[in-house]
Amino acid sequence: MIRRINADQRERGAKQMSSGTVCVQCAVAVDAAYTYLVPDGLSLSAGDIVVVPLGPRKVLGCVWNEDPGEVSASKLRAVEGLVDVPPLRKNLMDFVDWVSRYTLSERGMVLKMVLRSSDVLAAEKPVTGVSWAGLVPERMTPGRERVMEKLGEQAVWPKSALADVAGVSAAVVDGLVSAGVLEKVDLNLRPVIEQPDADHAINDLSEAQRAAADKLAETVRDQSFAVTLLDGVTGSGKTEVYFEAIAETLKAGKQALVLLPEIALTQDLLQRFARRFGAAPGEWHSGVSGRARARVWQGVARGEVQVVCGARSALFLPFADLGMIVVDEEHDPAFKQEDRATYHARDMAVKRGHIGGFPVILSSATPSVESRANADAGRYGRISLPERFGGAAMPDIDLLDMRQDAPESGRFLAPRLVEAISKACEAGQQSLVFLNRRGYAPLTLCRRCGFRFECPNCTAWLVEHRFRNKLLCHHCGFEKPVPPACPSCEAPDSLVACGPGVERIAEELVDRFPDQRIAVLSSDLVPGVKAMRTLLAEIARGHADIVIGTQLVAKGHNFPLMSVVGVVDADVALQNADPRAAERTFQILSQVVGRAGRAGNAAHAYIQTYVPENPVLQAIAAGDREAFYERELDVRRKAGMPPFGRLAALIVSARERDLANQYARALKHAAPGADHVDVLGPAEAPIAMIRGRYRVRLLAHSTRAFDLSDWVRQWLSRAPKPTGGLRVQVDIDPVSFL
Ligand code: ADP
Ligand code: ZN
Repeated sequence: MIRRINADQRERGAKQMSSGTVCVQCAVAVDAAYTYLVPDGLSLSAGDIVVVPLGPRKVLGCVWNEDPGEVSASKLRAVEGLVDVPPLRKNLMDFVDWVSRYTLSERGMVLKMVLRSSDVLAAEKPVTGVSWAGLVPERMTPGRERVMEKLGEQAVWPKSALADVAGVSAAVVDGLVSAGVLEKVDLNLRPVIEQPDADHAINDLSEAQRAAADKLAETVRDQSFAVTLLDGVTGSGKTEVYFEAIAETLKAGKQALVLLPEIALTQDLLQRFARRFGAAPGEWHSGVSGRARARVWQGVARGEVQVVCGARSALFLPFADLGMIVVDEEHDPAFKQEDRATYHARDMAVKRGHIGGFPVILSSATPSVESRANADAGRYGRISLPERFGGAAMPDIDLLDMRQDAPESGRFLAPRLVEAISKACEAGQQSLVFLNRRGYAPLTLCRRCGFRFECPNCTAWLVEHRFRNKLLCHHCGFEKPVPPACPSCEAPDSLVACGPGVERIAEELVDRFPDQRIAVLSSDLVPGVKAMRTLLAEIARGHADIVIGTQLVAKGHNFPLMSVVGVVDADVALQNADPRAAERTFQILSQVVGRAGRAGNAAHAYIQTYVPENPVLQAIAAGDREAFYERELDVRRKAGMPPFGRLAALIVSARERDLANQYARALKHAAPGADHVDVLGPAEAPIAMIRGRYRVRLLAHSTRAFDLSDWVRQWLSRAPKPTGGLRVQVDIDPVSFL
């Protein structure tokens, strides 16, 4: 993987940065680049990926465009070698710098998101093949005979494959090579990457779609930074439309990136892409393994992979010449990464477009309030598709007041919803029942003594998962079997499940509809991405009558036969004190309801609630998106909440509650005075303990024009050093307030 001395690197004519030394940003949790000696014969320039010693380790790093300054050479360690991949482009390095500054993550951690691991940088192993040299072995053995028999089936064999089919060891094949019977052939197994063709199979677009596609194509032809909000109802054909923007990008000879919130979604998109462009795009997410990852990473860097569809981490791929980014389902909270470096992939995509000088398309049926405000203010362009493709109607929506339309005791589905599902079954159509809660029941208690099962590590109830006969913590993964008796009062058979999860809804539906095919879509019940994709595809083809699902089903899937949607509990998200609760509820319910009636069949949605007067639910029932946005924008504007103001959360955590509290108070005290910012808290986090750590939150709130990241950096530099197991996590533009 490492070239120690590199002649063609020198021929590249790149400038040597400084005589004998370079600055290298290591891809570990450090903020600054360190100076290294350049060994004789190696020529390095900014962007080169290198291996350097760091303490006792060898780590990956990138030659950074900084002046090493005067350092005594005797103190310096030398660069170990240059990795044989294209150097990072300047715009990506600028992006790393910017993300690091904005999110207050060490620059090395952000660089690590680019370089990933040495696996993705590793060269493809050469595979040796063999073919017949025309001779017959002088000495025949049964093994050799079998090899000779199989040999005729193919002109060239990978060595191991030949040994496999002949049922012999590799040594037998080697022996035939030594004997001159077989000769070695170099097999370059790197598959030829098929290039997507902009003109492969252009779809007939509706008039509205054509107008939208033309507008997007124009922004692509401009090849300058511009953000466009593609705001179209579910099923309006947003995907078809942004495909045309991708086609235009390909015609301009540039690369395109499509970011998706959910990997299960990619399958459908990849297939549609392949039909439109005649070749599959590169795929990038946690389900893509080893070699395939390396091929995409390196193919992107060499400019051979022209389009990538991927999860948020694809934003950090080293594109040779990126010309456009699409953020599909841009409102989705899955774009926010909360562990390690916290960043919001949508916002960072906009920044990457800004630095790279290319257009960015944000697509959604329920735009985030931020993007909507940016479009209203003219900072973003806006393209609307208010109608579904092919004249399909949006579903009729009824709010079911659970105080009046109550289910029988021990049941969770209102009579009207059950009746609608029953009718859909009779008509051979599908129903979807949505509840964003995994497991059987969110709380288990003893009916005799009132004991409740709690996680020992978190402030959370243990959730019963009946299919697995376990009690699980959804925050830390703690699990234990469901005991036969109450652990507190030892009463046998006294445990009762409180409230429903998807498994319990499934139980009710199986009981009510014993003859129907029922599928449960919950990430913990479907083993792995492949199984999930298969299941989704089967459902889309009609291999289920009733589907019960968590938020997974809300995301962009096409289920043509779906004609009834039931929402078990619309109030789940509305109840918590999260400033984004209204927006989340609006988005998820609109998306779920939008799964129905996409193929033109009349569709009906039923939303169960105890607060039908709630304005968000009223707006959804009336199909009045504007009512929601107007109200929400007004609330945010008055409170100076994003996007009319800025937020940054600091989460202090420690194993001891007192330590966390004391430090949080000291931190608050250290906040620099400023006119446009105030600090709320410290306050115990709503989930006061996670994984055994007590959590206390502070929230900085500023005006929009204020550089909050910079202010928080100053704040932290004034604060006492967190010691004794204290941790301070910074979350700029928080999405979660738990
Ligand atoms: P959205 O992304 O807005 O929800 P999609 O692009 O997924 O919409 O389109 C919804 C459905 O309508 C898909 O099944 C898609 O194939 C179909 N569709 C949309 N536009 C066209 C078109 N111009 N020609 C043929 N089918 C289309
Ligand atoms: Zn836990």
